[in-house]
Amino acid sequence: MTYTLEGNTGTWEVVIGLEVHAQVISQSKLFSGASATYGGEPNTQVSFVDAAFPGMLPVINRECVRQAVRTGLGLNAHINLVSRFDRKNYFYADLPAGYQISQYAHPIVGSGTIEIELADGTSKPIGVTRLHLEQDAGKSLHDQSPTKSFIDLNRCGVALMEIVSEPDLRSPEEAGAYLRKMRTILRYLGTCDGNMEEGSMRADVNVSVRHHGEPFRTRCEIKNVNSVRYVMLAIEAEAKRQITVWEDGGAVQQETRLFDVARGITRSMRSKEDAHDYRYFPDPDLLPLVLEEDWVAALRTQLPELPDAKKSRFMHQFGLPVYDAGVLVAEQATADFYETLATGRDPKQAANWMMGDFFAALNRTGRDIGNSPVSAANLGELLDLMADSTINGRIAKEVLEEMVETGETASAVVARKGLRQVTDTGAIDAAVEQVLAGNPDKLAEFRGGRDKLFGFFVGQVMKAMAGKGNPALVNEALKRRLG
Ligand code: ADP
Ligand code: MG
Repeated sequence: MTYTLEGNTGTWEVVIGLEVHAQVISQSKLFSGASATYGGEPNTQVSFVDAAFPGMLPVINRECVRQAVRTGLGLNAHINLVSRFDRKNYFYADLPAGYQISQYAHPIVGSGTIEIELADGTSKPIGVTRLHLEQDAGKSLHDQSPTKSFIDLNRCGVALMEIVSEPDLRSPEEAGAYLRKMRTILRYLGTCDGNMEEGSMRADVNVSVRHHGEPFRTRCEIKNVNSVRYVMLAIEAEAKRQITVWEDGGAVQQETRLFDVARGITRSMRSKEDAHDYRYFPDPDLLPLVLEEDWVAALRTQLPELPDAKKSRFMHQFGLPVYDAGVLVAEQATADFYETLATGRDPKQAANWMMGDFFAALNRTGRDIGNSPVSAANLGELLDLMADSTINGRIAKEVLEEMVETGETASAVVARKGLRQVTDTGAIDAAVEQVLAGNPDKLAEFRGGRDKLFGFFVGQVMKAMAGKGNPALVNEALKRRLG
């Protein structure tokens, strides 16, 4: 499934590389003891180091290093036992030091891969070039006063992982799949919450276009896109813009652009700096970061089961199709829920109920697995009531709706609403007679050879029994009666 765009000069291919900035889950900042939690009152989480008071010295936070290494391991990446911190120099009001401490030539994590899953059921490995640790900047607030700008330094110095991909992505869909997969992995690892709305994960999107088989052309970088959907829209808009530039005889200039969500276009922000503009040099306040091999090896053995491994286990252990397994492992909570539900039950039926009626009911009430009023044990009880013929499948859907609305257990809903399946053949036969007597014309048609009407009679009998008839017994009774 190749994604191409048509121009006047032929077919164009889109080339995409993503730089993901992921805020590290840690109590304190990368080089100071100030709190790294989100949402505090402005400037209440700022140490002298973060505010760049003269003479203050950064001290590396071991937990942030641990999280970066665990992320690298989760991305199947090479861990560099020696890495180094550099100063990336630039002026901005929310960067009091006048430089950002980052890693340039020697990042903590080298190359790795992420396997992405596409809508047509195929998957594709995407190269990860590197992961490095760096500080976040503060925040300028321009909307608090008509004449002044305010600075909030709470975020200044918070640890970020910048995760750079190879230019391996070829469509908006692939870019979206990459970001979702990245987010899933980070959440499983507990190294970043992946919350794009709150900005704890953001992406810079590099886009170029070319005709098939050509070398790469010049790229543009779209900064700080904060949702998967916007990333996909921005790529499409930017690719179309570049095609027009090339086809009009111009040349795409390497630059930094912004995605204007309202207008669905990208706008030029500034010409792109090259690395030498930042005058990178090793931070003289920090020693090279040296990791012990044993420590890294221990972190590797302590990693949780990651989505790819869980997915193939679900396929083998529960016999699930690849699509179901993919949906069920997308969030850790969903996977845990499923595993509880499926254990000791028909696993395919469990998957169908979870992904179908249960997700739909949660959706309708604006909830998800995390705050579901129905636990896996409760949903399991519903499946059990079906399995032992206490209720039929149609009634089960109705019971599930009630469970999601009220939080009651399945058996409580069945008892309260009197929904037990009717297996009393006397009652079923009576309903059959009543339906046949009420539809003499249909009965005549059936006798005249319209076999299809059998289904009609089944439906009518079920209806006469308020949906509670045992479907197998109703079928049997009708067959017996109609010959
Ligand atoms: P910079 O600091 O200049 O942004 P990085 O190395 O951090 O550079 O990131 C470069 C990003 O651009 C990578 O994700 C890479 O895959 C991507 N990239 C490089 N060349 C191209 C290209 N021709 N088209 C699209 N993306 C590209
Ligand atoms: Mg970059």
